[in-house]
Amino acid sequence: MKSSDNMEQVEQRLVTIQKQIHDACEKVNRSSDDITLIAVTKQVSSARAQSLLDVGIKDLGENRLEGLLEKQETIEDPVNWHFIGNLQTRKVKELVDTINCLHSLDRMSLAKEVHKRASKPLDCFVQVNVSGEESKSGITPDEVDVFFDQLAAYENIHVIGLMTMAPNTDDESIVRNTFSSLRKLRDKIAAKGLSYAPCTKLSMGMSNDFTIAIEEGATHIRIGTALAGSESEETE
Ligand SMILES: *Cc1c(COP(=O)(O)O)cnc(C)c1O
Repeated sequence: MKSSDNMEQVEQRLVTIQKQIHDACEKVNRSSDDITLIAVTKQVSSARAQSLLDVGIKDLGENRLEGLLEKQETIEDPVNWHFIGNLQTRKVKELVDTINCLHSLDRMSLAKEVHKRASKPLDCFVQVNVSGEESKSGITPDEVDVFFDQLAAYENIHVIGLMTMAPNTDDESIVRNTFSSLRKLRDKIAAKGLSYAPCTKLSMGMSNDFTIAIEEGATHIRIGTALAGSESEETE
């Protein structure tokens, strides 16, 4: 498949999303320059990922090692690679030096392994399960302080911020509360001024809730279906 097959459709989606980002930023007096748009390509082919790069996307997100490596093999353009999925400790070795940013640091054993395997400090988000849903990964808000204290031992971990996923619900107030709670936690940690964890960023917001996330302070939004589309659509 030629990458141009998808370009027009992808470009239209990108324009729509950029407009939504712009409007959300304007609403709360933020600059859209402060938002990093990560296109999540976990559901689409390397060709579709390529067409995203062709229309100007610089950041791609994957949630599985296999998907990440497959795209890295086929894509030659420079990309900021984000790993956004649950990461098994045994897969760290193969993954760690191929990515620019890990969004799913959620346990000390993972921090230890990343520290051990990385050849240089890796930018990470600590994933927090703000909503307390059992299906979601992440440390609890109560664990955050101790977790950050313990990270001091691992100099290859450089925490740039916190990450969360909001519950999948139509109730906007629940989603908004989840994001604003993460922001408050972020502010608390950033105020400590830890050299290994400046923690000034917020990775939150997906296709269904990214405008709310931006209003609540997101700096990194992770958008899959609304931008990259999905596999079923690709093979139509
Ligand atoms: C899949 C995924 C996304 C993107 O989800 P969409 O709803 O398709 O935008 C964002 N973040 C994580 C952690 C994901 O697994």
